[in-house]
Amino acid sequence: AFVQGCLPKRPHHAPKKRLTMVNRMQFYIDGAWVDPAVKKSTAVVNPATEEAMYEVALGSKADVDKAVAAAKRAFATFSQTSREERVALLTKIIEIYKGRLKEIGAAVSDEMGAPLPMAEKLQAGAGLGHLMTTLDVLKNYHFEEPVGTAMVLREPIGVVGMITPWNWPLNQIACKVAPALAAGCTMILKPSEFTPTSALIFAEILHEAGVPKGVFNLVNGLGPEVGAAMSEHPDIDMISFTGSTRAGIDVAKRAAPTVKRVSQELGGKSPNVILEGADLTKAVTGGVMHMFNNSGQSCNAPSRMIVPLSKMKEVAAIAKAVADKTKAGDPRAEGTTIGPVVNRGQWDKIQGLIKKGIDEGATLVAGGPGLPEGVNKGFYVRPTIFADVTPDMTIAREEIFGPVLTIIGAKNEADAVQIANDTPYGLAGYVSADTVESAKRVARQIRAGNVNLQGVPNDRTAPFGGYKQSGNGREWGKYGLEDFLEVKAVAGFNAA
Ligand code: NAD
Repeated sequence: AFVQGCLPKRPHHAPKKRLTMVNRMQFYIDGAWVDPAVKKSTAVVNPATEEAMYEVALGSKADVDKAVAAAKRAFATFSQTSREERVALLTKIIEIYKGRLKEIGAAVSDEMGAPLPMAEKLQAGAGLGHLMTTLDVLKNYHFEEPVGTAMVLREPIGVVGMITPWNWPLNQIACKVAPALAAGCTMILKPSEFTPTSALIFAEILHEAGVPKGVFNLVNGLGPEVGAAMSEHPDIDMISFTGSTRAGIDVAKRAAPTVKRVSQELGGKSPNVILEGADLTKAVTGGVMHMFNNSGQSCNAPSRMIVPLSKMKEVAAIAKAVADKTKAGDPRAEGTTIGPVVNRGQWDKIQGLIKKGIDEGATLVAGGPGLPEGVNKGFYVRPTIFADVTPDMTIAREEIFGPVLTIIGAKNEADAVQIANDTPYGLAGYVSADTVESAKRVARQIRAGNVNLQGVPNDRTAPFGGYKQSGNGREWGKYGLEDFLEVKAVAGFNAA
């Protein structure tokens, strides 16, 4: 079913352009670093220092057109490559990525503020993890399956536009690019304008690995310009979007007239249900630490802790102890638990919501408005805990996207489930109970795409994605690969 030998031999003698100021002012289109159609740029600011680190070029519709044309040309050949060729390509990408893991970690830390060890291990590490699981999936995936008298073929969907956020920048890029390559798609990536560096390094890795020209293209730019041009483009077959629900809706609206597939991974306000009988210290400590990880800037952050009303005081005390030990500080300093949030806009938004929590009558247990003690520069937020939160309060409803936990009391299990589902979002849910059986009972009632029981972390081979307004796609593992595949039924395939 697959044509062999479609990948051109890599010209290893070609000089490799490393990341320089030049490349930051260029895009990667059709296998080469090229200048933007219109000269425009923005400063990328280090959130820990508030200093501009460098300028990055901003694209326009003309750059998108050029990248899409290259991707469309490349699709004819790349879509026909064999599984073996794509396995070889991903294997090479992984090898080169591993060699630059530290560099990626440092880039992520500088651009969005994650503490350096965390940026290396979890941020850059997650990107590597997705490349590796995708490789495993590709090796064994059944692209052809007999159904009745027909044969069902799974084929690459075509040219994919990828729009990604800044909070887990390279992780989110890798969990789109890896399966799209595995599927045989060609693509145009627009990373977040706040975190373009790790994406530029990734483009270099793909180039060095020998990804054929036009298969992967990178255009930096703003959402309403480059992102909008991609969403509307008639020659893009699919948009894979990760970001806010607000922008996701705009993307889907713009994509509607061309009936392209839109896969959305959006926001969340995930419940962490802790039931009567759970190991309170373990569940609350784990829940708070998970909430504060990445300064609360995770779409699946367990931001609403729902606990038995009778345990509110005890829970608040355990949570406060964790918050007091959480050090918000320099991402490069030892002993830092969490870094700053990504930019001033987010800092202002989070401060407004913290004040709103106080105004609406929640009990401030730890943290609060303003900068952490001794800090006078950088977008640092005090690790903040609110207890006695009611489900109608703004802090219980809006995605805060900062290190701010709300603790809500529930009368009983049924009430806890009701509160858990009382949100337009449905990305994740967490349950701790006396036994796994009790936790499972609640898990089945939570309207969310991912539920974690008793503190067990996600499995990267299982699907990740949202119910309700948290999205409609599924990433990771074989489900992520299938997001980039079309299904074709061929009748008469097996006829003699
Ligand atoms: P954002 O929506 O502002 O930006 C995300 C991306 O979309 C960026 O590349 C941005 O430039 C682009 N964009 C913005 N407006 C656009 C438009 N009108 N048309 C096309 N593209 C547009 O989100 P953000 O602030 O970068 O990221 C935070 C959000 O992402 C949070 O809501 C978070 O929950 C969500 N998120 C979801 C997941 C998930 O898998 N469900 C993962 C990470 C983050």
